[in-house]
Amino acid sequence: MPNQDLILLALNSSPILDLMQRALHAAGYEVAVAHDRSGLNKSMQEAIPALMIIGETFAEQDGFAISSEMLERFPTLPIIFYADKDTTGFAKSVLKNGLSGYLYPPLQMADIVEEVQKSLARARRLGDWLRREVRRTTSSLAEKAKISEAERTKLEAIISNIQDGVVVMDEHQRVLLVNRAVRDIFNLGEAEVNGRSFGDIISNADMVALLSRSSEGPLKYHEINFDDGRVFNAQFTPIPKIGAAVTMQDISYLKELDRLKSDFIHTVSHDLRSPLTAVLGYTELVERTGPLNQNQQEFLHRLQGSVQHITNLINDLLDLGRLEAGFDTRREMIQLDGVLKYTLDMFDSQVKKKSIDLAVDISPNIMPLRANPIRIRQMLDNLVGNAIKYTPNGGHILVSVSMQDKQIVFKVHDTGPGISQEEQSRVFEKFYRATNAPDGVTGSGLGLAIVKSIVDSHQGRVWVESTLGTGSTFVVLLPAHE
Ligand code: ATP
Ligand code: MG
Repeated sequence: MPNQDLILLALNSSPILDLMQRALHAAGYEVAVAHDRSGLNKSMQEAIPALMIIGETFAEQDGFAISSEMLERFPTLPIIFYADKDTTGFAKSVLKNGLSGYLYPPLQMADIVEEVQKSLARARRLGDWLRREVRRTTSSLAEKAKISEAERTKLEAIISNIQDGVVVMDEHQRVLLVNRAVRDIFNLGEAEVNGRSFGDIISNADMVALLSRSSEGPLKYHEINFDDGRVFNAQFTPIPKIGAAVTMQDISYLKELDRLKSDFIHTVSHDLRSPLTAVLGYTELVERTGPLNQNQQEFLHRLQGSVQHITNLINDLLDLGRLEAGFDTRREMIQLDGVLKYTLDMFDSQVKKKSIDLAVDISPNIMPLRANPIRIRQMLDNLVGNAIKYTPNGGHILVSVSMQDKQIVFKVHDTGPGISQEEQSRVFEKFYRATNAPDGVTGSGLGLAIVKSIVDSHQGRVWVESTLGTGSTFVVLLPAHE
């Protein structure tokens, strides 16, 4: 079988060149001879030789220099170096330059063919190995691409079909992805939104507020209200290296339930109050109808106490209903420290009875407040009342009013049982009574819910700082009137 490999000879004319040509022809190789640099370059590019034999000097240039240049351009080309004389220096340079073989006189045809065959075989093995490697890496890359494409499609399907609204944004709040639910929630239709600022696309004020507040901290919840009555709970979650995501759940039905529940409580409380007034009225009348024995008297008083208790509870519920419905709109200029005096007067006898050391610290220059004085009084009564109620005999209470920027800070600190971390957020819920309360301390769990509603309706904030077993501090911040 004729050998189709082309061998390029870059040798100056000489008997050796002829010998090589003959030897290679005889072995079945095709042979091309380059006579100068441009011929060499042309052959390299057009004929694509399988091997090159280069002389020590070729076209008046150094054979090693030309070889290095060739290997730069064709790194897998096997090159055999022909030196006129064998020296160890040449052998070393051949190795150093990464050439494949070395020929030197005296030369026989067989030596030439053998060296060429050896070099070609090595080059072929290298080529095979390279091809295998390339095939292996490209096939595993293709496999990976296939998997990640499948994963991407799967994720996209999940996100777009999820019931909750999902918006993914980059660091500048430009939309990277919105799902079907978000398009429906904001009536976006099929508008192109990717790459646009999310705040520009939607006009809902609550969502705009959530986005602008998002820079203040890591995780934010916000209620998003729509004019048509829909309410969504939205969370803003930063995603490292991407930006952030906003997820939205429809809580309209929960809101509706809450409203129904409040309406129900309000109606029932209202309907219960009139008959209770009648009961109380008649128990007072009984005393006037004639002399009662001691037992009758005592039972009647207990009856009155209980009816009074239920009436208070119902009044609390009615208050809460009114506050939650936003009916509390009365606003007057008041001094919080002024209202506090009435509260402290009212509790004076109880404080004395429990031998509580109650200190009051009111900073000068407390700014006025635009508020409903009755509600503020109710708030103070509840907070100071709780402190007295939960603090054991002989304990300490500190009530303080101060200014912080343009805010009035009201604090009640006590040495009562304290409230555990887990229960601190719950004590403001309706009917929630913490497990810490000492035995025999009764209550309905509505006081702090009322306090919270009052503070909320005055654009303030209320929270508790407490350690179980040490005491509690209830803090109220209310914006002062400038
Ligand atoms: P009421 O409706 O009569 O006020 P209550 O005092 O039990 O009843 P809240 O005032 O709402 O209800 O308080 C809720 C719960 O918080 C209380 O049951 C109590 O466990 C806890 N709590 C409130 N104030 C204090 C306090 N100063 N020290 C310790 N625990 C307190
Ligand atoms: Mg209370």
